[in-house]
Amino acid sequence: MKDSNKQKNKEKKNNKILIGILILAVLLILSTIGAILLTKNKDEEDKNTLAYTDLIKEISAGNIEKIEMTTGSTTVKVKVKNEEEEKTSIVPNTESFIELIQTKVAEGNEIELIQKPRSILVQIPTILLNLLPTIIMLALFIMLFKLQGIGEKGKVYDETERKTKVTFKDVAGLEEEKAEMVEIVDFLKKPEKYTRMGAKIPRGVLLYGKPGTGKTLIAKAIAGEANVPFISMSGSEFIEMFAGLGASRVRKLFEKARRLAPCIVFIDEIDAIGSRRTSNSGAESENNQTLNQLLVEMDGFSSEETIIVLAATNRPEMLDKALLRPGRFDRQITIPSPDLKGRLDILKIHSKEKKLSSEVNLKSIAEDTAGFTGAELANILNEAAIIATKNNHEEIENDDIEEAVKKVTVGLEKKERVISDKDKRLTAYHEAGHAVVSRYLPTQSNVKEVSIIPRGVAGGYTMYKSDEDKYYISKTEMKEKLIALLGGRAAEKLVLDDISTGASNDIEVATKIARDMVTKYGMSDKLGPIDFQGKEPYEMQMFGEDIGDRIGLEVKSLIDEAYTKAQQMLIEHRDKLDLIAETLLRQEKINEQEFEQFFRD
Ligand code: ADP
Ligand code: MG
Ligand code: ZN
Repeated sequence: MKDSNKQKNKEKKNNKILIGILILAVLLILSTIGAILLTKNKDEEDKNTLAYTDLIKEISAGNIEKIEMTTGSTTVKVKVKNEEEEKTSIVPNTESFIELIQTKVAEGNEIELIQKPRSILVQIPTILLNLLPTIIMLALFIMLFKLQGIGEKGKVYDETERKTKVTFKDVAGLEEEKAEMVEIVDFLKKPEKYTRMGAKIPRGVLLYGKPGTGKTLIAKAIAGEANVPFISMSGSEFIEMFAGLGASRVRKLFEKARRLAPCIVFIDEIDAIGSRRTSNSGAESENNQTLNQLLVEMDGFSSEETIIVLAATNRPEMLDKALLRPGRFDRQITIPSPDLKGRLDILKIHSKEKKLSSEVNLKSIAEDTAGFTGAELANILNEAAIIATKNNHEEIENDDIEEAVKKVTVGLEKKERVISDKDKRLTAYHEAGHAVVSRYLPTQSNVKEVSIIPRGVAGGYTMYKSDEDKYYISKTEMKEKLIALLGGRAAEKLVLDDISTGASNDIEVATKIARDMVTKYGMSDKLGPIDFQGKEPYEMQMFGEDIGDRIGLEVKSLIDEAYTKAQQMLIEHRDKLDLIAETLLRQEKINEQEFEQFFRD
């Protein structure tokens, strides 16, 4: 109890310092504005003041209608005939001035003299007037402090602020995953029910999945469903932190969690702090401190504390095994890319507030976007709305969406970028190489569009029609995928007898596929069906000292075989390769129908 009070005080102090800095900044800005306004007022004052000698002249000329005086003040308000605004003037001696007016009035001069009792505000010395904004701000400052104190006593401001409105309804697809989470939601709502039974509820749940698959969203939805605070932190925040700060940040996070329990703690990109503790040097050891603190916090939960820690990563193989031990992140849930139905549901959710034309068929968009993540789908609809606006469409139409799909997949089309003829030729042959090779590979998807118009970083692109969702990919299919990927490079070599950097992405993808085939899917005949991924060096030793070399050789032979095959195919179909490359150079783009025409004889 005492401990938690201490924490509270600490937190309070920190908050106050923060608010203090904030208010000082506001003060500075306001006083600058104040100063500007004051100088402005001064300018205006100059226009509206009447020198005393002029005032006397005007009075003698009978031009003054009214004079207003305040007892004790030397500043008087003067209304000049035929002038709308009143002017101010300073009189050296009020008593003799009043006498002067009275004589003038006696002489028949029509001046209305008003004498007002002294009011306090008018009498504030100018120094104080200048300080006024500052004084007001100081008062506000003090009031804020007091208010904060009240808030803390009332214990409401903190929790409500962190509550999220996201619920499972906002998460499309992922039905099985949501079902798994229902238990956690129920535990957060009624912890006694579980503790009474002695039931063990997972402390930590690790969400694996590509970026944009909805990991953050589902974590928030759990908090929303259970109506508990959502406290989050991202592992990447620690990367550029000073030594020792990472660990203390983790400690503070959990202090807060204990205060707000029942609650959800969400650690995004946990791989940034929880990557394998391999060495003890520099940044590594800083990571270790942070990771160790996280482990200490998770181990230190008592059974009454209703805190569930959710963490997300897209690189599970990087994680330190210590994180996965019982009592820590002992439950792991994979968040997959959405399947056809999931994509349709996501598109439905995100098109709710958008003006879609009735001709738009979400089902067919869902069919065309196999492999897209939820974030990408949401993005497509946003982009489509922007494109529709640019095109002056009343509603979002099919072609707006098609353009958006392209924009999201390959980046924005840059028609105006100047490309040398040599580069164009290279790109044309590279893309034609992909397209021709894929056309003759039975397992590869049909070509939808080939283009040498640069998009984003890509010089050109070949788009394929997407398949129905596949859960399994055969070895033949993977081998043919490698051939299609290397078709670009093979064409460059064949036709231009030179190769370019343009194929780097293809090569990266191909290498990854080949490596997975050997080390993950057990598709190498020589090495057999063994999982070599994510193994510690000593575990690898089991397979022999030279296991690394043997894996490397298998990967290389898969790539070599595919590259040779791609070259053979292109030599055989050189006529099609030339035809398509030439067409691309002429018209920059070839669509599906045009492409198929080339193969009809
Ligand atoms: P991650 O944390 O896995 O990188 P996010 O949860 O941040 O992904 O998802 C980003 C955005 O993508 C969400 O805010 C949401 O708009 C959209 N999104 C992703 N998955 C889904 C889904 N299953 N249902 C609805 N929207 C989704
Ligand atoms: Mg996220
Ligand atoms: Zn390519």
